[in-house]
Amino acid sequence: MYPWLMPYWTRFQQVFASRRLPHALLLVGPTGIGKSALATQWASLFLCEQPQQNTPCGHCHACLLAKQQSHPDWHIYGADDAKSIGVDTIRQLSAQLMNSPQLGRGKVAIILQAERMTEAAENALLKTLEEPPGNSLLLLLTDSAMKLLPTIVSRCQVWTLQAEEQQALAWLQQQAPAQTITPALLQINQGAPLRTLTYLNEGGEQQRQAVISALELYRQQPWTITALTKCWVSAMPSSFEWLSRLLLDALKLQQGVTMQQLQFADHASLLSFLATRPAEILLGSLQQLLLLKQSLQDMPSAVPSILFADWLDQLFTKE
Ligand SMILES: [Zn+2]
Repeated sequence: MYPWLMPYWTRFQQVFASRRLPHALLLVGPTGIGKSALATQWASLFLCEQPQQNTPCGHCHACLLAKQQSHPDWHIYGADDAKSIGVDTIRQLSAQLMNSPQLGRGKVAIILQAERMTEAAENALLKTLEEPPGNSLLLLLTDSAMKLLPTIVSRCQVWTLQAEEQQALAWLQQQAPAQTITPALLQINQGAPLRTLTYLNEGGEQQRQAVISALELYRQQPWTITALTKCWVSAMPSSFEWLSRLLLDALKLQQGVTMQQLQFADHASLLSFLATRPAEILLGSLQQLLLLKQSLQDMPSAVPSILFADWLDQLFTKE
């Protein structure tokens, strides 16, 4: 179990031991915080035939099947990368929970990235949540409860996951001893340690530095726009997020937050310059960035260089 998940694991063990486990739990947290690792541990305990001190024993029939991911009473929905989770999937889930468990302990259903449920799927799920079948555990995982129907959220017990910063940083340093781990790295990755590790391992930090440095260079030498655009495009969609965060930092700087507290403190001169721009321009650029991201997603044939040039012009030169 990842160290920052321990408090949630302990709390679940207590609730499980007191037999006050709700039928449905909603786990909310950014991608890469470890929601599915936690859900897996919870499901293992729920299904284990002889838990030892509220921990799955690891060797009973149920535990062995769980390890092989072939437990007949444990189903995971939304494991594919499909854009949405349809009503048929949820009907399947409801039917599974209605059936008697094959091994006797109970039934578990996990919905990954539950925010992908269509409206029809959510409505179908509501019926199951209103009359939960006995001896079942439904776990919904999402990065944002706002993306679900409020009626779904209100029928689940909501657990919001966060990684304690010092613990997360210490863990990351262990995993990537050769890297310099800073709180900013974690913040840029929504405070999610697993996501941060992938980011480090896949060269995300080098890419981010390249995009911001190219932007800095463009400020002084506008004719380097082609290099900047190339860099930007190759790091999409992350580059949109980095630029949004950079603008947010500039706004914070305007409001008196000190440089050291900002995520992009390592690009102090660019930030200081941006902070001299009117707040309306920064807010407008932030909004335009979201639209830009959306339009490039919707129209893959669009020419980014024209759109980017427009955006840069607004941010750097517009009065
Ligand atoms: Zn067991």
